[in-house]
Amino acid sequence: MNQTNVMQFLNEVSAKYPQAISFAAGQPSPEFYQNESWANFIKVYEDASPLSSSLLYRYASSSGLINHEIAQFLRNDEGFSVAEQNITLTNGSQEAINLVVMKEVRNDNECVVAIEPFYIGVKEVLEGQQKRLVTLDFAKLCQGGDLSCEAFEQALQEIQSQGISIKLVYINPDFNNPLGFCMSESTRQSLIKLAVKYHFKILEDNPYSHFCYQGKRLPSIYALDNQGVTYHLGSFSKIFCPGLRVGYLVEPATKDHGERRISDYKSATSINTCALAQAVIGGFLIQNDYSFKARMAEINQHYGARKVALVEAVKQSLSPLGVKLYEEVSGGFFQTLELPFEADFEWVEKSAAQYGVIVMPVSFFCVNSTKWKRFVRLSFSYADETTIKEGISRLAKSIESQCSI
Ligand code: PMP
Repeated sequence: MNQTNVMQFLNEVSAKYPQAISFAAGQPSPEFYQNESWANFIKVYEDASPLSSSLLYRYASSSGLINHEIAQFLRNDEGFSVAEQNITLTNGSQEAINLVVMKEVRNDNECVVAIEPFYIGVKEVLEGQQKRLVTLDFAKLCQGGDLSCEAFEQALQEIQSQGISIKLVYINPDFNNPLGFCMSESTRQSLIKLAVKYHFKILEDNPYSHFCYQGKRLPSIYALDNQGVTYHLGSFSKIFCPGLRVGYLVEPATKDHGERRISDYKSATSINTCALAQAVIGGFLIQNDYSFKARMAEINQHYGARKVALVEAVKQSLSPLGVKLYEEVSGGFFQTLELPFEADFEWVEKSAAQYGVIVMPVSFFCVNSTKWKRFVRLSFSYADETTIKEGISRLAKSIESQCSI
């Protein structure tokens, strides 16, 4: 099944059953952005920028307009310094994934490695570009909820022994989509060593790292990397507003001599990321000391409470039915559950139609693995606590009925 089918299916189910409570969408809650004054942010940017305001309405530089503001933001919120010319503003991280694959994977014997279940938009990119994807199963590589680097290294060796050259390893290290797990700092360090040893680059896709509800955020792989092997992708879709379609891509610190830069691929793909949308982000950053920390501290209280409400409701209503929490998450948008049966399309539609609740089977995020058929991903970012509780009680009825078949 490809993502188009999955998304189509879910869009159809959501459209067909509009009253259903949806735990499917990985979207921020509109209440956190719908009252923002977008024009005001653009004005702040225009007033502060030495550039003439007309630049916002013309074709702009392919690498971006707000690289300076993003560099400050990365220093404040991600804890690393990066030269502005190593940053490219993109149409969300989805475009950034496309650009990195375009640049790094060139020949038939080259591949991208992803650990499934994984953000299935990556598969779509590789299919679109007709590039090779090799998936490894997290169920086989996992140790104590984290990636076992020994098992991962062995898997890399097996791929190479088939004459396949690994160019990129796709990693979504913080509150990952769909499982919600976080990679430990030592695993991040080991990955960098493996990248050097096996000559691949890490594609670090990190849209959920700011959503930390317990404990402290871990440093990004890019921040730990002093070998120049990491591409770092960030997005304002989750922390601000997905409709803006603004993300950014940071190239590895060392320069590839004579090679085309990401901005060349960006130019060929979409010329530039909407300058007005960039100015909204730029204005927000200028107005907020180049940081999302204050905004996230407030928003995370709400999302954190929603996560607690979800987990409590699951324990109360679903645990007695044999449903298990798969590693309780401490951040992000998603909590995964293990059901006592396999969650297929039919059951998803039946849950929406008869019980008014929509969830995402984790198998939708898999290419080859059959190990995740009993797991479902629940997004707790979109609905408020009361709706979450009601949604879980509807899910309980659907599960109960399925168990009795
Ligand atoms: N990566 C991950 C892990 C995601 O979950 C998503 C969106 N669901 C994206 C990338 C794409 O996000 P965007 O293009 O809006 O930044």
